[in-house]
Amino acid sequence: MSNHIRNTAPMLASPRCGAKTRCGGACRSRAVHGKKRCRVHGGAQGSGAPRANQNARKHGLFTRDAIAERRQVRELLEEARKLLEGMK
Ligand SMILES: [Zn+2]
Repeated sequence: MSNHIRNTAPMLASPRCGAKTRCGGACRSRAVHGKKRCRVHGGAQGSGAPRANQNARKHGLFTRDAIAERRQVRELLEEARKLLEGMK
């Protein structure tokens, strides 16, 4: 690899796919920009589930809204706790 006629270091420094191949090793292809997999292992444009896929939803515990709500409650409790500490 290092005796290549051109400087391939930047190319090799790009993120790798890492999907498990049939041989048992990891795929060493370049991952598609913004994705974790190469174009043949699910990184191709249009592949994967759509955003906010309702068909894959089971309980909604980790939806963006549920996480935001829990954060708000946590922040409110933290604020109340600080206020109570200040009253002592
Ligand atoms: Zn791959």
